[in-house]
Amino acid sequence: MPSQTEEMIQFDRGHLWHPYTSMTHPLPVYPVSSAKGVRLILANGEELIDGMSSWWAAIHGYNHPVLNQALSGQLEKMAHVMFGGITHEPAVNLARLILTLAPAPLEKLFFCDSGSVAVEVAIKMAFQYWISKGRPEKNRLLTIRSGYHGDTFAAMAVCDPETGMHSQFGNILPRHLFAPRPAQRFHDSWDESAIDDFKALVAAHHPEIAAVILEPVVQGAGGMWFYSPRYLSRVREVCDQFDLLLIADEIATGFGRTGKMFACEHAGVSPDIMCIGKALTGGYMSLAATLATRKVSDGISDKGPGVLMHGPTFMANPLACAVSHASIALLLSTNWQEKIKAIEAQLIGELEPLGKEKAVRDVRVLGAIGVVEMQEPVDMATIQRRFVEQGVWIRPFGRLIYLMPPYIIEQEDLSRLTGAIRSVVQKGL
Ligand SMILES: *Cc1c(COP(=O)(O)O)cnc(C)c1O
Repeated sequence: MPSQTEEMIQFDRGHLWHPYTSMTHPLPVYPVSSAKGVRLILANGEELIDGMSSWWAAIHGYNHPVLNQALSGQLEKMAHVMFGGITHEPAVNLARLILTLAPAPLEKLFFCDSGSVAVEVAIKMAFQYWISKGRPEKNRLLTIRSGYHGDTFAAMAVCDPETGMHSQFGNILPRHLFAPRPAQRFHDSWDESAIDDFKALVAAHHPEIAAVILEPVVQGAGGMWFYSPRYLSRVREVCDQFDLLLIADEIATGFGRTGKMFACEHAGVSPDIMCIGKALTGGYMSLAATLATRKVSDGISDKGPGVLMHGPTFMANPLACAVSHASIALLLSTNWQEKIKAIEAQLIGELEPLGKEKAVRDVRVLGAIGVVEMQEPVDMATIQRRFVEQGVWIRPFGRLIYLMPPYIIEQEDLSRLTGAIRSVVQKGL
C-alpha cells in the first residue's frame, strides 16, 4: 500500500500545477512538512538548509516566534475586512512604517496582493497620470533587457524579451522599448558611454514614453545581474530632463537584500513610483504595495477619471499587514547591515574561487546574493536531486546557480550551501 506521502505526491503530479511546469511531464517535487529557522523539514524527516528564502521572501527564516505572534494576535481581532470605505490599524501602522523607510518624496501607498499586481498598478498609475495630463499618446514604457517584473500581462510585456515569454505571446503583448542590459558591473568604474543606448532611445521616443521601469541595481529572475549604480543615477537624470516617470521595481531588492534597505539607495535616487513585495511580510503571506509621489497622485486625481482605477478584493489584508509590520520592525531591531556584510564577505570568499573552473562563466556577489553562472544551462531535476542529497535547498534556473539565504543564517550553514555548489560545479552532475 502506498504511504500517505506517496499518495500526496501522486495526487500532486496528477492535478497540481507548480511554477512554470508541464502537467504532462511534471518535474519531481519534494514534500515539506514543516520549516524552522533556515531548515526545511521533509516528510521523511530529512532536513534541508534553505538557500532560497522561498524566493527572496523569508528573510528571518521560517516559523519565527515574533512573526507567529503578530499573526495569531491579529487573527483574534479579524482576519480580513474589505478596504472599500473601511480602514484599520494594521494597514495604517504598516503604511506609516514603510513611508518612513522609503526614499522621499514617496508618500502615497497602494496595497495589493502580489508583486505582479504591484507592477500592474505602477504601470496603470503612469498611464493614468499622462491621460489626465492630456497626453494619452504617452502610452509606452522603456525598460532594460534582462529584467523581470512578473507574470501578468502588463508585467510580462516589460520582462526580458528572450528569457521572458515574448516568443509565445509576442503578438498579444504591447510593444515597449528595450535598452540593452547595462554593461557595467556594480563595482566597475563608470564609463559615460554605458548610458548612450538608453539616451538614444529616449531622444527618439520620448513623446510616446510614459515611464521608465526597471529593477534598481540588481536584476533578479531575468538574469541575476548587478549593474553600476551610476547607470541608475543617469537614468534618473534623463527621466527628469525629458519628463518621464521612473518606476523602480524593488520587489526582489527591498528590505535589505542588497545591503541597503532599498537598492535605489546605492545610487541615491528616488523614483516617482516604487513597487515592493516578496520580503515585505518576511515570507509569511502574499502582500505587495505600490508607492507614489504626490506629483503622481495629484496628477492622477486632478482630472478625469480622477480616481485610480484599481481595487483588489483582499487589498490591505489585516493579517498580511500585521505580520508585515512585525517583520519590518524585527529587521530594524537587528544589526541587519552588519549581517548582510558578513554574508557578502563569506559568499565572496567561498564562491569566487569557483570562477576558475572551466564549467563556470562568471561568479558575482552583492549583499546577501551569490550567483554562479555556468557556461551551459543546468538540468534542473538532476541538480536539484544532487543538492537535496547534500542536505541543501538550492533551485537553479538556466545557467544560474544562486543563493539568497535568510539573513539569520549561521556561518556554518552558509558554508554547507556554498560547499554543495562547489561540489556540484567541480564534480559535475
Ligand atoms: C518576483 C518579482 C515580481 C513578481 O512578484 P509576484 O509576487 O511573483 O507576482 C516582480 N518584480 C520583481 C523584480 C520580482 O522579483
